[in-house]
Amino acid sequence: MEIHNTTEDLVFSTISEICASIEKSGNPDKLCLCDQCRINAACFVLNRIPPHYIISNRGAARIEQETISRQQKEADVVSLVFEALKRVNHNQRPNSDHTNGSAKVAKKGPVFNIPTIIGRAFDGTKFSPLAGVNVELLRDRKLVEMKNRNWQNPCTLTSNTQGTFTFWPESIPAKEAGSRENFEYSVKIEVPGFETMVHFFQIPVISEINDAESFSMDRTFKLPDLYLFPPGEDED
Ligand SMILES: [Zn+2]
Repeated sequence: MEIHNTTEDLVFSTISEICASIEKSGNPDKLCLCDQCRINAACFVLNRIPPHYIISNRGAARIEQETISRQQKEADVVSLVFEALKRVNHNQRPNSDHTNGSAKVAKKGPVFNIPTIIGRAFDGTKFSPLAGVNVELLRDRKLVEMKNRNWQNPCTLTSNTQGTFTFWPESIPAKEAGSRENFEYSVKIEVPGFETMVHFFQIPVISEINDAESFSMDRTFKLPDLYLFPPGEDED
């Protein structure tokens, strides 16, 4: 059994539907609908509506659907998604070209497809999101290579994304499909006047036959919120 936030399902599916309908209508507002803008929009919306947790198992699928449709009526997620897509567009990241074209040739499988990693970083003294700060994703003390050129490592926190950072690591070759492995990563954040944050975590991944070519918001690995403090303060 796992605890599952159905608000995430609602937000992810609403973003996919809205982006599809915008693309269909020729995108008159010229909104950027790249993977990073979608994920930033998802974070924007998720930070503004309450989570709804259920205990999930296989039998809960139907209940989940009912919960989601009830929530849809309660929260005006659709208008929030539109606001989010406009906001993240008005402040595009300077180093990203915001296209979805994959710069790399897909690896021949089998591979471990690493999920997209999402987290947030805060100034722990004010509980405000950090901005203008670089976040590094490391594995074996080296910067992890990203899936394609739309994903930056280090990732720079911008004020419009409320301290959110995202990574999509390159897939890792596997001997065969169906084997399970834990991959160790760390997120490192250095800010002048604060104690350096190094957060270690493991992602369990089951290898697959093919390299995941397209980004999916369902495949995300969420980190706990990270709080940075000045040196000498006993906080943990
Ligand atoms: Zn974009």
